[in-house]
Amino acid sequence: MQTIKKLDLTKVGVSYNYCRICGYQPQTQLDEPTYGPIRFWEPDDGWLIGTLCRHCAGEYATRQPKPDDFAYAEHFGDVATSIDTDEDPMEAITFTPETEGILARMVREKAEQKAAEEGRRVALAAQGKKAITLRKSEKKAILQRKDDYDVLFYGEAWGNITFNMTGYTGYLPAPKKDVDQGEDPWTLLVIGECSLSAYRQEITALNREWKIYYEDKTRIPNNH
Ligand SMILES: [Zn+2]
Repeated sequence: MQTIKKLDLTKVGVSYNYCRICGYQPQTQLDEPTYGPIRFWEPDDGWLIGTLCRHCAGEYATRQPKPDDFAYAEHFGDVATSIDTDEDPMEAITFTPETEGILARMVREKAEQKAAEEGRRVALAAQGKKAITLRKSEKKAILQRKDDYDVLFYGEAWGNITFNMTGYTGYLPAPKKDVDQGEDPWTLLVIGECSLSAYRQEITALNREWKIYYEDKTRIPNNH
């Protein structure tokens, strides 16, 4: 007999993270939220713990691995191959003592990785490097006349600014006031459709804020 796997979204946390499959991200409280953490099978990447929009949750959250999926041979038996959520990934699955141990290790490794990333940014800020820079994206749509831009945060790909009809839309990283250990130091600054020069002005202002942010961080010992 076939078991029907259901996902009751009312039992999953509401999130404002982007959808791991289609990239949808709620921009205001009025937009439909995304849901997570959800553990789901992605045919190419294997088991992921992340956030999904309602539509992708409908399609992916209950999908089971198939032998001809690219990730099948390598990842079928895994608990998770990647944790991509700000929520507590422990909530994503019903776990056994074994999976609990594996997940706890993955959570610890992710926190260590974030701390290392932050250490790298602190060092770059101390060298006077700018926080946010733009780089022309490789063109995706042939008919698109305006360039899109990758947003780099201390040299690493962070987001993008895309041309949409009459102006650019996107997000920029702004310093977060209270950051817990292992958390990203930014919050998203959403800017409505506007010119690229308006973005550049905003970036200049944000780079000043980031400079102060990291100066404060290096000045106060043990501040995380
Ligand atoms: Zn989606």
